[in-house]
Amino acid sequence: MQASHTFGPVRIYLGHQSGKYPDGNQIVVQGADTRIAFDTPLVSRQIGEDLEGADLLLLSHMHEDHAVGLGRLAHVPVQAHEADLQAVRSWEGFKRHYGYPDEILDALHGMIVREFDYQPRPDATGYTDGQVWELGGGVRVRAHHLPGHSAGHCALVEESTGVAFIGDIDLTGFGPYYGDAGSSLEQFERSLEQLRTLEARTWVTSHHRGVLTERAAFLQALDRFAAKIGERDARLLARLRERPHTLDELVAHGLLYPVGTPLPWVAMAERRTIEQHLERLQARGAVQQDGAGSYRAT
Ligand SMILES: [Zn+2]
Repeated sequence: MQASHTFGPVRIYLGHQSGKYPDGNQIVVQGADTRIAFDTPLVSRQIGEDLEGADLLLLSHMHEDHAVGLGRLAHVPVQAHEADLQAVRSWEGFKRHYGYPDEILDALHGMIVREFDYQPRPDATGYTDGQVWELGGGVRVRAHHLPGHSAGHCALVEESTGVAFIGDIDLTGFGPYYGDAGSSLEQFERSLEQLRTLEARTWVTSHHRGVLTERAAFLQALDRFAAKIGERDARLLARLRERPHTLDELVAHGLLYPVGTPLPWVAMAERRTIEQHLERLQARGAVQQDGAGSYRAT
């Protein structure tokens, strides 16, 4: 497979529809001595030697759609940010990363083995914020810890070209995802602010939006993406203004996904997301919880 874009030592392989979920986008960085791959989405199955011959695999974060090659590339060392490391090393660790009940995790396990070739990598090692990998010939990758989507989510930047792989701060119309146990809305918002000032000339997302080469277009996309958080606050608040709702009722209405979306984790992701929004709205005094556990707009 040919790279879709090349920026000096950086080769970008776009997945189906610019990496629309469940696919994603793959980056390979070639230095004078070392070749590093970022993530391994579904498209990674088709790349061939450029990926199979990599010296190191860096994960932007741990989710099954970014880890498709972990089993097939067992000969390539893999690193993830230390906060996501246990999720890479074992299914037990991955379960804690999601934090869903066992019956959902059992269904999820079957699905991610079938569809994403899921395999743990007990040999994976951790990296930290600011870590640098010198690939030779002035080619250099640096990790920027931007948590929220997951606790260990990072942007990976090749500094000689200014190509920033920004992972699942994916700038899609869906908006930010912070629905797992290890996710945090508060951290995601801070990461969005930090990303604004990250030095880069090209931004590559994991999903759907693909490659952005204009700073103004990137910032516009980032603004629209970040605005989804406020829109979710407003939608919840509007619902609570109609009448008080319990958390279960709010989850049944859904905030992220259309009602009836057939993915095993949807209800849990909705719950975790709505809980975090309710916390914010309560802290602002916009929402109160009554004695029976219902939430009402003040
Ligand atoms: Zn993800």
